[in-house]
Amino acid sequence: MRVLIVGGVAGGATAAARLRRLDEHADITILERGEHIAYANCGLPYHLGGKIANRRSLFLLTPADFQRRFAVDVRTGHEAAAIHRGNHELEVLDLAAGRTYREHYDRLLLSPGAAPIRPRGMEGSRVFAFRSVTDADRLQSFLADERPASALVVGGGFLGLEMAENLVARGLSVTLVEMASQVLLGLDADMVWPLHEHLRAKGVTLELGSAVAALEEAGKSVRATLADGRRLEAGLVILALGVRPEVELARKAGLELGPMGGIAVDRQLRTSDPAIFAVGDAIEVEHRVSGRKVLLPLAGPANRQARVAAANIAGRSEEYSGSAGTAIVKVFELAAGFTGLNRQQLERAGIDHRSVIIHSASHATYYPGAETLTLKLLFSGAGDILGAQAVGREGVDKRIDVIATAIQLGGRVADLSRLDLSYAPPFGHARDPVNVAGLMGGNLQAGDIDVVDAADLLARPERQVVDVSEPAEFAAGHVPGSVNIPLGELRSRLGELDPAQEVVCVCALGRRSYNACRVLRQHGFSKARNLSGGYRTYRGLARPAAPPAAGGEIELDACGLGCPGPILEVNRRLRDLPVGATLRVKATDPGFPADIAAWCERTGNRLIALRREGDVFAAIVGKGQPPSDPGSSPAGAPLLDKTLIVFSGDLDRAIAAFIIATGAAVMGRKVTMFFTFWGLTVLRRRAAGLRKSFLDRMFGAMLPRGPSALKLSRMNLGGIGAPMIRWVMRRKGVMSLEELIGQAQAAGVRLVACQMSMDVMGIRREELAEGVEVAGVATYLQASETAGTNLFI
Ligand code: FAD
Repeated sequence: MRVLIVGGVAGGATAAARLRRLDEHADITILERGEHIAYANCGLPYHLGGKIANRRSLFLLTPADFQRRFAVDVRTGHEAAAIHRGNHELEVLDLAAGRTYREHYDRLLLSPGAAPIRPRGMEGSRVFAFRSVTDADRLQSFLADERPASALVVGGGFLGLEMAENLVARGLSVTLVEMASQVLLGLDADMVWPLHEHLRAKGVTLELGSAVAALEEAGKSVRATLADGRRLEAGLVILALGVRPEVELARKAGLELGPMGGIAVDRQLRTSDPAIFAVGDAIEVEHRVSGRKVLLPLAGPANRQARVAAANIAGRSEEYSGSAGTAIVKVFELAAGFTGLNRQQLERAGIDHRSVIIHSASHATYYPGAETLTLKLLFSGAGDILGAQAVGREGVDKRIDVIATAIQLGGRVADLSRLDLSYAPPFGHARDPVNVAGLMGGNLQAGDIDVVDAADLLARPERQVVDVSEPAEFAAGHVPGSVNIPLGELRSRLGELDPAQEVVCVCALGRRSYNACRVLRQHGFSKARNLSGGYRTYRGLARPAAPPAAGGEIELDACGLGCPGPILEVNRRLRDLPVGATLRVKATDPGFPADIAAWCERTGNRLIALRREGDVFAAIVGKGQPPSDPGSSPAGAPLLDKTLIVFSGDLDRAIAAFIIATGAAVMGRKVTMFFTFWGLTVLRRRAAGLRKSFLDRMFGAMLPRGPSALKLSRMNLGGIGAPMIRWVMRRKGVMSLEELIGQAQAAGVRLVACQMSMDVMGIRREELAEGVEVAGVATYLQASETAGTNLFI
């Protein structure tokens, strides 16, 4: 039997090897128009970036090796030009010799792959497609010779993302232009935002919702004109606009094409001509979930199809049962994977669906190195699994592959909750995120819970929203218009909610709010719904696009400073910068990641990136537009003032009071601290020559004279507690109480001493620190009228 194979990379080489294993006597020839066969094109971007240092390791087998090992005639530089189906002949063009010849076949296998989409006019010596080793070599030489400083990547799919990462690794400044409003269209909008943040954090400029209309080479750069008229310039352009199936040979031969424009094949991968098989990027396959014909240009399906086609050519009967579209991509330190269909695809296919989003740690949190993993599960009302998406630094592949397996074996949502998966603390959880997603889906199906998507809440915000987080979390950020009833208080505060209305329950990650929903449901709130993915997903989706950087980038080293030092420093440095400027901050305070996120959200600045580098947290903060209404947050939420009554003269309580007050002031709130009775001693200082009555002198002698004389509320240890805590604070970079007072005043905190208490305790104005107001209770009451929080310390 004479078998000709067109294309010698993923599908072609795999089919040839398998066919040889099945039929030692077949006469097999591979015709490949390129120079190489059987190479790892998936590894090419990483070779470019230097991760795969050795170019040779990309070549799994050379033509000579392949020929020797499999007794296959490999002809590189030979292009299949036409199929003469009537007499089973293939017309071949020998590219080097420039001559054509004909080869007879009993069976023909087409694996010609796909061609990069290259719009008309987008050519030039600085414009690159990236498909083959030859393309990669050309780009490598260009980078070495020309040393461009910047690159424009057009297209935010798999290849665009990989190229962006690897060009950054080569030291180029990269702008990625994507026509859609997001990268990686396999992910839903509520799952993709971490990729946007991460790309920006890695220095990639994202131009989302922008299409490149024209490219024009100008000297040592390329100028791109966007559809909105803006112009971008870079040293080179990578076209990563996707691929179209190579069907010209098949079309000219009269082989049937499918609705998506790929070669139509049956389950045995036979084309409309029984002597011709086709596999890989060029064909259309059945989607395992939708049942529709799709193009899935991926290496895994190409390899599996090649085995099936080879078996059928060898006289066996095997079937390719379709593809679930399972895929994964690395985006710097993140991974994003998906299987099945996403929300948009399900809507387009008219498939009714539900979904849950969970945030989990990639492995047990008490074992070092756990990372946040976000998993979305989509399923039908009947419990069929329709799709899944995952994003995180660790464990994405495992979760997606488990769900992909379940989909392909006909598993249902409830099965996921019961899957027996491997577990030890370094690897996962006793209840794996896949189990949890299955449980959540099962609860939804059973009607025990109902959910609302973040996108739906953003589109229709005028609802009764209750945030069951703790007040401090609520203060750090919440859904505009929501009320805060911590979960522990919910049962006693049900009267504050209207059971006739829908109630959307929110917390940071959606777990406590799930419990809240259960409480509400059982107290007659039949319309209680959980915000899927919690505030984390809502915030990610609601966050406005990054403003373009302008005004330069400033470095700030806040390492060693304790709370609220780093935030104060950020506030101070950013104040003088223009909108659009970026500040790179490094801090070691463990509370910094949460604080900087909350601070940015409240102040209209943007947290472009936040990552951990050993013990150091590195954040990139973009100076945003200050809120137009100083009384509102950028999201429009009213900024409520804070009042604190400082009654205590204990050192630790005073420190806590000043940290909270300064933090709130830096967040843009008006803060008033009202010092009364023992609290006055915090503001006290030595003043010589004051004439006082005997009683006042006696009182004065008994009261501590200012911050340095205060004692601890607990563990005073016969007087050494306070010096000890001061020493510890100094070591840990926390400001002293004296410094905190100064910082609070600098941040605009209003310090008011209670006149009545001063009279009672015989403290004079001259004994108080500079800048302290002396006033009565009415001043405090007036301030508290507009306060959202009033603390008694
Ligand atoms: P190919 O492997 O592209 O082989 C087709 C071959 O046919 C080509 O060498 C071509 O020169 C030859 N040919 C075409 N027409 C003719 C003709 N008329 N005569 C002779 N020869 C012809 N997929 C993943 O799943 N994961 C990844 O991480 C991934 N990364 C990728 C990275 C890059 C840079 C690229 C380019 C692709 C990547 N892919 C990835 C996709 C994957 O490589 C393809 O899906 C897979 O190679 C398809 O196999 P194929 O045999 O259909 O086509």
